[in-house]
Amino acid sequence: MNRRALLLAILLFSLSSLFANPYSGGVSLFVIDPGHGGKDPGAQGFGKNEKDINLAVSLLVAENLEKAGRSAVLTRSDDRFLELGTRCDVANSATFEKSGYPLFVSIHVNSAQNSDASGFEVFVKDEKKLIPMLSKVTNPILLSKYASYTPSQLNRYKDLVSRRVADSVVSSVQRSFPLARIRGVKKGDLYVLNCTWMPSILIELGFISNEDENGRLGDGSWQQRMAAAISDALLGY
Ligand SMILES: [Zn+2]
Repeated sequence: MNRRALLLAILLFSLSSLFANPYSGGVSLFVIDPGHGGKDPGAQGFGKNEKDINLAVSLLVAENLEKAGRSAVLTRSDDRFLELGTRCDVANSATFEKSGYPLFVSIHVNSAQNSDASGFEVFVKDEKKLIPMLSKVTNPILLSKYASYTPSQLNRYKDLVSRRVADSVVSSVQRSFPLARIRGVKKGDLYVLNCTWMPSILIELGFISNEDENGRLGDGSWQQRMAAAISDALLGY
């Protein structure tokens, strides 16, 4: 192959990989989902409810993203009950800049029978679970942008991008909390990860059932540091 043909081949290859990934161009909307709420307190421990910690950290993450000039919406911004399906509907029908793609970030707190269990972890969808068929989606921006992709293509790229984002969040939290136990990135069969068509992660901030972590989870300055670590990572996308 001569030099010109080689350059042309490289150009075509990079163009095709550019068009191949439906989730390119950066995140144009962050959908932040504080887990539980209202009549559903989530996990409970030492007088604290998971729903309140999720909301406090989620509000801070959304605020950080907006301060940095990025668009963010919350599935709930107060103490109200939302069905899991409603959370997915908010994400799947959200308006976003077509030049990029939305990213779904659900924020939760863990709990375990074993009170020694501790640590930060991030869940991504299991690749065996297929995201919902585009035929069920009515979002016009989505349909115009993604109609040419098959569900299995979108599924593959969703998993790739979600994994990348999850790894970045874990690294950022590791840097901000060098002494914390980091459980890493795990695959989970979780409703909100399976029912959102865009890249999505679910963060477990720590264990409400662990007395030490319980104390930190409810502390305002810890919540701010944690939210900063999460939003710093998200701003890279
Ligand atoms: Zn939860």
